[in-house]
Amino acid sequence: MKAREITCCKSCGWGSDSITISEVQQQVEKHGVYVCEKCEAKYEAILNHEGDFRIKNGFGSNEAFITEDSIYYVEADRGRIVDPKAPFLGFGGRWFLIVKRQDGSNNAFVTNSLFHWVSIPAVFRERFKKSDKVNSTIVGMEKEALANLRDILKNIPHLN
Ligand SMILES: [Zn+2]
Repeated sequence: MKAREITCCKSCGWGSDSITISEVQQQVEKHGVYVCEKCEAKYEAILNHEGDFRIKNGFGSNEAFITEDSIYYVEADRGRIVDPKAPFLGFGGRWFLIVKRQDGSNNAFVTNSLFHWVSIPAVFRERFKKSDKVNSTIVGMEKEALANLRDILKNIPHLN
């Protein structure tokens, strides 16, 4: 007997044979692709959340960054900057420059331990934009380029 093919959620990547074909079809009708009910509830919660959204997991209440297509976070217990020799750094310790809109102003900072949480399904991306939930722009940077930026900023007298 051939096992039934399991449809995996386009957002979290999980699938289960306990989810019936009609449940999958119902979600596909709603979203265009299969988004599991857990993810659907998660996105609705973020859309209805007032203030800065945080991701709560085993690392604590983590700072979240919502971009146009994904949501990222830094671990609350380790923070934005982690010893580059430490194990299990997000994105292998790659450096990122982040600009995040908070309380109406843009704040810029750097992290070397950024984690990807979810890819926002297309159907929710528009709603995130319309609800003004997209709050971050994230750019991968070489360490040397960041050091160069630090020097450029330091040498601008008008910033003092
Ligand atoms: Zn899911």
